[in-house]
Amino acid sequence: MIGLSAEQKMIFATVKGIVQEKIQPRAAEIDERAEFPWDTVRIFAENGILAPLLPEKYGGIGLDYLTFSMILEEISKVCASSALILIAQADGMLPILFAGSEALKEKYLPGLAKGKLAGFAATEPGAGSDILSMKTRAVRKGDVYVLNGQKCFITNGSIADVLTVYAFTDPEKGSKGITAFVMEKDSKGLNYGKNENKMGMRGCVNSQLFFEDMEISAENIIGHEGKGIANMMPALDTSRLFSASQAVGLAQGAINEAVKYARERVQFGKPIADLQAIQFMIADMVANTEAARLLTYQAARYLDRKESRFVRKSCAMAKFVASDNAMKVTTDAVQVLGGYGYMKDYPVERMMRDAKLIQIYTGTNQIMRLVAAREIFQE
Ligand SMILES: Cc1cc2nc3c(=O)[nH]c(=O)nc-3n(C[C@H](O)[C@H](O)[C@H](O)COP(=O)(O)OP(=O)(O)OC[C@H]3O[C@@H](n4cnc5c(N)ncnc54)[C@H](O)[C@@H]3O)c2cc1C
Repeated sequence: MIGLSAEQKMIFATVKGIVQEKIQPRAAEIDERAEFPWDTVRIFAENGILAPLLPEKYGGIGLDYLTFSMILEEISKVCASSALILIAQADGMLPILFAGSEALKEKYLPGLAKGKLAGFAATEPGAGSDILSMKTRAVRKGDVYVLNGQKCFITNGSIADVLTVYAFTDPEKGSKGITAFVMEKDSKGLNYGKNENKMGMRGCVNSQLFFEDMEISAENIIGHEGKGIANMMPALDTSRLFSASQAVGLAQGAINEAVKYARERVQFGKPIADLQAIQFMIADMVANTEAARLLTYQAARYLDRKESRFVRKSCAMAKFVASDNAMKVTTDAVQVLGGYGYMKDYPVERMMRDAKLIQIYTGTNQIMRLVAAREIFQE
């Protein structure tokens, strides 16, 4: 569908090899045990795809958004949870790349290509969709800011070496009173709460973080004081693109399983693939997944071409269309496999559980429709 350059072909050959040899064989196991796959992180780092969006000067390969999206899609076909490691890495690192000082970039970014992990910490127990109701405060005392508050659900939270964290420095100023900081693992005053026991994406770590008089150097402000929301929004746009790519891959993976099974499963003396009821279900699954893929690639192209007036709407639309589709397709894949689809012997029940999260995180699909509608009525 898409013409690939020689470099992209090489990258894909590498990714496909990793997916088949290393990620697919581990997918069911890491889900069952809720085990974070450190071996996969090592493989990503060794093959230059742990932080490929970083420019070469910071240890990356300066990959474009479209190619990165296609990598996420390829991995998600067999293990969406492993793709989430790369998404959380990008979510934590891009705010620094977009707006950090040169000193911050040099200090924190190169390690992220080599095996260190990042995360993005905005959500709090009382501040999910309504992020401006966050309670975490950062008060300047000389050369440091003192943080008090908490975050929840943070992907990579307790294992990230570097976290981009958002806090109010001036609550009176509302959206202009939030500041972004780079926070290091095991900082004094940073306490880790529980890692969540989740329905899906069980190979990822999602943690509570508590800040008790935690000091962060003033040099670790990303951009300027009060510019936290301005910093957060572009990172949310890219995160929504990545989630859309993950959803497209997940749906495609479920389709692959459903088609294979439908060809093999014989009932009433013939493969169920010969039944029109199954054929129509599969045709809908494929058509809607291809539509979601095109919307996702379009959003990636807008980002690559820096066509900023289309980015917010496209990323939001790709995210809700692709993830609503992934939920439906994975549910229908379970249906195609009948009772076997409900069993853990086949991957489609895991895919269905994984798909649910993509409708929720990085902005729920209700919020995605609000974002898209706001852009549409402003046009
Ligand atoms: C596994 C997982 C990983 C996550 N990773 C991260 C992370 O790495 N970093 C991070 O900062 N956060 C992370 N999150 C948080 C995630 O982004 C939030 O859960 C999400 O934004 C929704 O917030 P909430 O859960 O508080 O739901 P709420 O905001 O309480 O929403 C509850 C329901 O109300 C609806 N709703 C709320 N407001 C409106 C409205 N105005 N109009 C219409 N409907 C509305 C929502 O759509 C939803 O259906 C993660 C969450 C999960 C579950």
